[in-house]
Amino acid sequence: MSDVTVTLPDGSELSVPEESSVEDVAYEIGPGLGSDTVAGVVDGDLVDKAEEVADGDRLVIVTEGSDEYLQVLRHSAAHVFAQALQRRHPEAELTIGPPTDEGFYYDVAGVDLDESDLDEIEAEMAEIIEADYDIERVERSWETAFDIYADNEYKQEILETEAADEETVSFYVQDDWQDLCRGPHVDSTGDIGAVKLLNVSSSYWRGDEENDTLTRVHGTAFESEDDLDEFIERREEAKERDHRKIGTEMDLFSVPDHSPGCVHFHPDGMAIRRELEEYIREKNDELGYDEVWTPELNKAELWKPTGHYDTFTESGEMFNWEQDDTEYGLKPMNCANHAHVYDSDTHSYRDLPIRLSEFGTCYRNEQSGELSGLFRVRGFTQDDGHAFIHPEQIKEEIRGTLGVVRDIYGDFGFDISYKLETRGDDAVGSEEIWANATDALKAALESEGLEYDIEAGEAAFYGPKIGIDAHDAIGREWTVGTVQLDFNIPRRLDLTYVGEDNEEHHPVMVHRALLGTFERFMGIMIEHFKGNFPTWLAPEQVRILPISEDQLGYAHRIKNELDGFRVEVDDRDWTIGRKIRAGHDDRVPYMLVVGGDEAEAGTVSVRDRFEDEADDVDPERFRDHLATEVESRTLDPDFVD
Ligand SMILES: [Zn+2]
Ligand SMILES: [Zn+2]
Repeated sequence: MSDVTVTLPDGSELSVPEESSVEDVAYEIGPGLGSDTVAGVVDGDLVDKAEEVADGDRLVIVTEGSDEYLQVLRHSAAHVFAQALQRRHPEAELTIGPPTDEGFYYDVAGVDLDESDLDEIEAEMAEIIEADYDIERVERSWETAFDIYADNEYKQEILETEAADEETVSFYVQDDWQDLCRGPHVDSTGDIGAVKLLNVSSSYWRGDEENDTLTRVHGTAFESEDDLDEFIERREEAKERDHRKIGTEMDLFSVPDHSPGCVHFHPDGMAIRRELEEYIREKNDELGYDEVWTPELNKAELWKPTGHYDTFTESGEMFNWEQDDTEYGLKPMNCANHAHVYDSDTHSYRDLPIRLSEFGTCYRNEQSGELSGLFRVRGFTQDDGHAFIHPEQIKEEIRGTLGVVRDIYGDFGFDISYKLETRGDDAVGSEEIWANATDALKAALESEGLEYDIEAGEAAFYGPKIGIDAHDAIGREWTVGTVQLDFNIPRRLDLTYVGEDNEEHHPVMVHRALLGTFERFMGIMIEHFKGNFPTWLAPEQVRILPISEDQLGYAHRIKNELDGFRVEVDDRDWTIGRKIRAGHDDRVPYMLVVGGDEAEAGTVSVRDRFEDEADDVDPERFRDHLATEVESRTLDPDFVD
């Protein structure tokens, strides 16, 4: 019998007899690891521990401590849900039930469920977990499987499509219940520490609106009750911070039915966006970018040489149509237009870097079911930029950009982390070009002393990328800015500069976005600040509250003195207590209370959003402070200490 050789995570190689399973390999490494093995990851795919390894496989053994363990546990929780559901509702037809980042869901047919049904199903799940049934993998012939699902057209369709060429298929069995499934799963139902069903929604079979409507039940599972409690707390906190809710309360934006996925910024939302735009313009100036504007409407041929056309039409993301025998499209990215601006002139190596920035509005056809507030949209404006440089400038260019990125996220109070996304299956350009570009990004990150994770195979098709993740006030991570190195598009478009040697060379193209898109960044910011924007961003920075009608004139004089800031006078016929509460509800950083005494003395009482107060304040001193606070983009109002 010959051996097969697998590569382990530390890079070492291990030879095992042919037909060895993942579990056999684990026992080969050590008996302790063998008995702890739950599953394996073979070349990036999570598999059952009974799966045979093949020569050349990259193998990771999954045990309780592994990152992938929670995924396995949640998939098992989805099975426990399905078993519990069928105990209570035998007529329910199962379709698919995968784990997700937050837990799991199961899509079912033939049963009417709403949230009031979840408690009894959850109680049934608790009994199944308590009973601690072994979870066993069983191989059955394709025909047997097809017969088992005589009354379930969805499972039959899975067998006829995904498993059409298989002689046998795997089932996972617990107690008297089973599910057609690839696995992997935990050893027994008792291994699931804590479960919770979260909500009921509807979905379409295979995600296609033309197909049957199914009922989707979302749940989550953890190793312990403590972990579950923490998750529920975070979820409640996230709900309170939901940017759609706060955006409506503060009247910042809307996404009306007549413009699906396309955001309308209302005056107060636009005030914030303008501040962001000015801020990014300053940063672009600092980095040496020249601002351009390029059109949204172009002939589709613009994106053919760059590869965008194929990529975006294949994924269905491109808005394109035929008009007067010509194919047109809305730009899904700004790269090709910026390349055109570069190419409209000849350049010498002395001119480089040439850096072009644009608040570029792009459109991508996200599925209507996926659209959500400011996070999943069809129309969006990137704070995009492209630098055209020669190869010796790569490290400095990337370092400079990363430095500014660090400043920016510091100004918003985000911690950041970095990830390096490398070559994926859809990559264009040679392996060598990619390797050079990836090494250059690594060198820039390392020379800045930045730690980063590697996300293998995640980069967009034209070059490796540094992704910047912002960590928000409740610990969530959002990918925001990106810096991508591209040796491919300049070749494909034959962009050139004349080198010192008088020969033509291709520049290197750096694609970068500092915030990502204004829409998404606004949503992230609303949730991060819970609507309590720093003074420089707040749509209403100061509200003046006259105690009675007699001080209205004085209130307006103070407002005039604060010219240049966003100031309102609350002239409603309300008590001062009610006006103060309204000011807090409206998340105004500063309130200036003016009564008879203040009007007479020519002073104001300052109240900030933390309910700190200062009396007898000279309005000029307040104005000077406000100017400093706004200019230095201080995170919290700090006039009153
Ligand atoms: Zn399953
Ligand atoms: Zn680009």
